[in-house]
Amino acid sequence: MTKLAVIIPAAGSGSRMGSRIPKPFLKLQNISILEHTIKNFANLDFVTQIIVSTSKEWVSEVELILSNFSEKTETLSVVIGGNERQDSINNALSVVSEDVNLVAVHDAVRPFINPELIKQCSSSALEFGGAIIAIPAKDTIKEVGEDLVIQNTPERNRLWQAQTPQIFQKNLLISAYTSAIKSGFIGTDDASLVERIGGKVKIIEGDRRNLKITFPIDLKVAELILDEKGV
Ligand code: C5P
Repeated sequence: MTKLAVIIPAAGSGSRMGSRIPKPFLKLQNISILEHTIKNFANLDFVTQIIVSTSKEWVSEVELILSNFSEKTETLSVVIGGNERQDSINNALSVVSEDVNLVAVHDAVRPFINPELIKQCSSSALEFGGAIIAIPAKDTIKEVGEDLVIQNTPERNRLWQAQTPQIFQKNLLISAYTSAIKSGFIGTDDASLVERIGGKVKIIEGDRRNLKITFPIDLKVAELILDEKGV
């Protein structure tokens, strides 16, 4: 039987948003972005644990948000995050329940993940070891030097933009994190840690609604998506 733990890193500072309140705690139609995000996972019966990683100041707020899901999800946990996203996730990994076989990592600031995609991604992770939601690159991507002179233009039709959730068999993800920490490797997503220890990670094509709320314009788009959904 599949049992999935979801790690939600929510310890970012929100500097790119230009707000004093960290992004996960900004409200969309009166509900925090974090709560919108959690809802998509809590309604799935194979999700048995939800772990939110946050900064000390926001622990009690997260506990309050999580209490809304106590009837749906077996185990709800809060841990303190770290300096990098990767540290925040590593702290959460240490409290994943024994009986869980899959672990998903999902950004707190992606409130529009379609639960059907979470299911598809979980099945592929069981089959391959790891699977992530991604979308084909829309823009041409340039690799540049520090002087901003272009060094390389990778072929666009082979490039995908990685989103979350990124889902892995538990032991594979733990090995990847242990190895990255041991060698001081810092990646910008979880798959990159798994790739570097030779793990296989499959792409599941997602949709563009699963945006990462990062800049003020993203909040405006998020409001439009919510209006369309009639939430
Ligand atoms: O900063 P970035 O866009 O990579 O943030 C993605 C997610 O990681 C956000 O939900 C943010 O709150 C979280 N994060 C974290 N700990 C950090 C930095 C980011 O949990 N130190």
